[in-house]
Amino acid sequence: GAKAHRIWVGTYEIEGKYPFLSIPSSTFYPSQCQHCANAPCEEVCPTHATYYDKNGVVQIDAQKCILCSYCMVACPYDARYVDTRTMSVDKCNFCSDTRLARGLKTTACQATCPTKVRIFGDMEDPNSEVSHILRTKEHFTLKAGIGTEPRLFYIK
Ligand code: SF4
Ligand code: SF4
Repeated sequence: GAKAHRIWVGTYEIEGKYPFLSIPSSTFYPSQCQHCANAPCEEVCPTHATYYDKNGVVQIDAQKCILCSYCMVACPYDARYVDTRTMSVDKCNFCSDTRLARGLKTTACQATCPTKVRIFGDMEDPNSEVSHILRTKEHFTLKAGIGTEPRLFYIK
């Protein structure tokens, strides 16, 4: 369905302030579940269907989900939707049950991105490409002020 996407591409204005938008200019940003270190979705889930796995990835156990939709309301990034095939809530899980489970080191979105916008990796490994980029390039997170501590970073 139209709203059932694990990832999406948004647009926003980047130049000028209303009402002085002389030549509207927009940029694109891919987005998805931010895998927050302080995730409101995990906090409100009454059945612990939403949980952190050993890698710190926010996961959903479809068997435990009772479709109360608390997590959908709590998520500030609108990252969750109802998967009508499993009748549970779903979202990006960093390909944990597919590619990573098969021993691959990349997510599907990273592997297929034609311009290599996306980089996925282990932030706790100081030698990973992700760690190197976070040390050397200016970056930001979405809605940084609300305390969710996203682990999806955007390079400026
Ligand atoms: S982005 Fe939303 S669904 Fe993902 S961890 Fe954060 S609060 Fe949960
Ligand atoms: S819809 Fe499922 S995952 Fe979300 S809060 Fe309710 S039980 Fe937890």
